Amino acid sequence: MRSLSEVAPDRAERFHKQRIGVLATTSLLAPAMLVYDGVTDPSNVDWKAISAGSVVLFLLVVARMSGLVAQVRDQAAQLEALAHNDGLTGVPNRRAWDLEPRREMTKARRSGADVCVALLDLDHFKRFNDTFGHQAGDRLLKEASAAWRSLLRPGDTLARYGGEEFGVLLVGAAPPEAARILDRLREVTPHGQSFSAGLVRRDGVEAADEVVGRADEALYQAKHNGRNRVHLVDATPTSRNTRILA
Ligand code: GH3
Ligand code: MG
Ligand code: MG
Repeated sequence: MRSLSEVAPDRAERFHKQRIGVLATTSLLAPAMLVYDGVTDPSNVDWKAISAGSVVLFLLVVARMSGLVAQVRDQAAQLEALAHNDGLTGVPNRRAWDLEPRREMTKARRSGADVCVALLDLDHFKRFNDTFGHQAGDRLLKEASAAWRSLLRPGDTLARYGGEEFGVLLVGAAPPEAARILDRLREVTPHGQSFSAGLVRRDGVEAADEVVGRADEALYQAKHNGRNRVHLVDATPTSRNTRILA
């Protein structure tokens, strides 16, 4: 990722053009020899030299092409990572987060597993920046996301929702267990900092956006109730409105 964001040196471009030039010139050697022999002495065409030259050049072209295909594949993987991961923390970014709940909810609908969604927001992060500097704030974001990620299972999602807000998606955890997991994350937040979180469980019929919207409301409640806490809203719209599950 770092190498993609760096400015590529001009030298690489010149070198690339030179290689193409050399390859094009050498590829013309065998046909040029054939034309020369055909024009000057058609009865004495040096077929051995021409065939050997053609084979060598063909192999060179194939080798170069497979190198280029591998390079394009690597770059596609790098672009994919850049498009879906946050540059600062390395965790999935907002774009990936917008897709992930939808994907997990579709899977969970089939398996019947619980899906809990939480929005985390670092407490008084502006004050932390103002006190220790923006770079220290960046380091906190990196270290906090690494610490949280290390406590989550591989199938759970931690994404940077934006600024100092993160989304957590827990599949297969009932709300009380999800709340315990989030409390553990809160405890490992580095440099004595804390976060507030809104936690909700998907009710089985809600769209991903609705679930995230409810998590956001719960986060607001967590802040309102004094910060450094997880506010769990277990009553889903279905149970409140006695909506029949599809
Ligand atoms: P609250 O407890 O209510 O959430 O207060 P807060 O200070 O955390 O929230 P507020 O919205 O007032 O400030 C968020 C700050 O986060 C302001 C912004 O400069 C900072 N911030 C957002 N993104 C970044 C980042 O990538 N790096 C750093 N260092 N700071 C960031
Ligand atoms: Mg915020
Ligand atoms: Mg905050």
